[in-house]
Amino acid sequence: MSIEFESPKPILQMQFMLKTVADEMMRPRSRYFDEHEHEIPWQYIEFMHVAMKAAGGASLAPRDNGKKSEEQEKRSPIGYQMIAAQIEALAYGDLGMYHCLPGGGLGAAAVFAAGSPEQKEKFLARFNGEKPTFAAMCITEAGAGSDNSAIRTRAVLDEKSNEWVLNGEKIFVTGGDKSFTEYEKLGRGFIVVWATIDPSAGRAGLRAFVVESGTPGVRIVKLEYKLGIRCSDTAAISLVDVRVPYDNILGSPAVEKTTIGFKGAMATFDATRPLVAASGLGVARAALEFLKEKLAENGVQIRYGLPRQKLTSIERDLIDMEVMLKSAWLMVVKAVWMADNKKPNALEASMSKVKAGDVTTKITQKVVEILGPLGYSREFLAEKWFRDAKITDIYEGTGQINRLVVARQILGYSGKELR
Ligand SMILES: Cc1cc2nc3c(=O)[nH]c(=O)nc-3n(C[C@H](O)[C@H](O)[C@H](O)COP(=O)(O)OP(=O)(O)OC[C@H]3O[C@@H](n4cnc5c(N)ncnc54)[C@H](O)[C@@H]3O)c2cc1C
Repeated sequence: MSIEFESPKPILQMQFMLKTVADEMMRPRSRYFDEHEHEIPWQYIEFMHVAMKAAGGASLAPRDNGKKSEEQEKRSPIGYQMIAAQIEALAYGDLGMYHCLPGGGLGAAAVFAAGSPEQKEKFLARFNGEKPTFAAMCITEAGAGSDNSAIRTRAVLDEKSNEWVLNGEKIFVTGGDKSFTEYEKLGRGFIVVWATIDPSAGRAGLRAFVVESGTPGVRIVKLEYKLGIRCSDTAAISLVDVRVPYDNILGSPAVEKTTIGFKGAMATFDATRPLVAASGLGVARAALEFLKEKLAENGVQIRYGLPRQKLTSIERDLIDMEVMLKSAWLMVVKAVWMADNKKPNALEASMSKVKAGDVTTKITQKVVEILGPLGYSREFLAEKWFRDAKITDIYEGTGQINRLVVARQILGYSGKELR
C-alpha cells in the first residue's frame, strides 16, 4: 500500500482561495485589530459568511449535520482534513481574525461530537442561515481549568417544568460575546456549558448543555485584555438560574458509575485539538515565510542540499524550522485523517497539539530573534505572531496536560494513575 502525501484537489483549491483572503482581507487589518482590542471586524465577518455559504457551508463543524448523500458515502471522507487546512490557511492570515470566523467553532464541534442526530439538525443548521452566527464552549472556571473534575457549575433538573436549571461562573470563553450577545448583524448563536448533574460523581457527573443566545440569566461579565489573538473576544460569563429545555443536554442524563458520559464530551477534544494545532501552524508558517522573504531581500539564500557543516548558522536554523513545521503538520494530517475515517484518535489528537504548541512557539520566537530589531518592531507583524503563537500551547489542554494524555494512552494508565 502506498501513502499519498499530496492534498486532495478540493483542499488545494480551497487553500488557493483562502490565500487571497489571508493576503487581501486579513493581513492589512491585522495590526489595526491588534491595537483596537474588542472591536469587532464586521466587514471580514460578513464577507466570510457570504463566501463560505457560497462555497457550500458556513460552519467549521463538518457540513452535513451528520447526514451524508449516497455519493458522499462513496468518496473518501475529507471533512476534518478540509477544516484543518482551512484553519491553517486562515490563521496564516491572522489567528485572532480566524477566531472571528462565523460558524460553529468549538460550540458546534461539541454538538457534532456529542449530540444526537436531532440535536445536530436543530443546533447546527443555523450556521447556514441569513446572518453570520457564532457558538462557543464554556468549560473553564476560576477553580477548574486543566482539572475539569473540579467544575462547580451545577445543572439541576426541575421535574415540574422538565427544564435544566444552570448556575455557575465560566471564564475565558472564546467567542462568548459574539455567541451570546444579540448584535443586530448576527444570527442567534449558542454557548455550550459544561456543568455537573451530580457533584458526588466527579467526572462521571459532567455534561454539556446548549444554552441559546437570549436565554434569561446569562450575562457576559467581562472581556479579557490579552497578550495575543486580541481580535478574538474572550469572555467571562455568569449563569444565574438559567433554564434550558430538557433536550438541550448533550449525551445521556443518566449518571453511571463509569465516565462514559464524560468521555462522550471529551470526544469533542479528539476532534478539535488537531484543529487548534493546525491554527498554530498557520501562524508559524506566516512567521517563517516572512523571515525567508526578509533574508532574500538581504541576499541570503538558503543552500538546500549542502552538508550541514557547510551551512551557515542561519541556514541551519531555517532548515530546522522548516523540518519542525512539516513534521508537526504531518501529525495534524494523521489525526484529522483518523477522525475522518472514524478511527479513535485521542492519542494522535493530543500528540499533534503538543507538537504544534512547541513548534509554533519555538518558530515564532526564533524568527523574532533572527530578525533582531525588525522582529521586535511593531512596524512588522513578527512580534505579533510571537505573541499570538503562545495560545496554541494553552487552550484546549495545555502542553503539560496533553503530554499527560499522550503518556496515559501509551502506557495504559488511567487519569487517576497518572496525573
Ligand atoms: C485566550 C484564551 C482562550 C480560551 N478559550 C477557552 C474556551 O473557549 N473555552 C474554555 O472553556 N476555556 C478556554 N480557555 C481556558 C483554557 O483552556 C485554560 O486556561 C487551560 O485549560 C488551562 O487551565 P487553567 O487556566 O485553569 O490553568 P491551570 O490548570 O491552573 O494550569 C496552570 C499551569 O499548571 C500546569 N498544570 C496543571 N495541571 C498540571 C498537571 N497535572 N501536571 C503538570 N502541569 C500541570 C498547566 O499546564 C499550566 O501550565 C481559554 C484560555 C485563554 C487564555
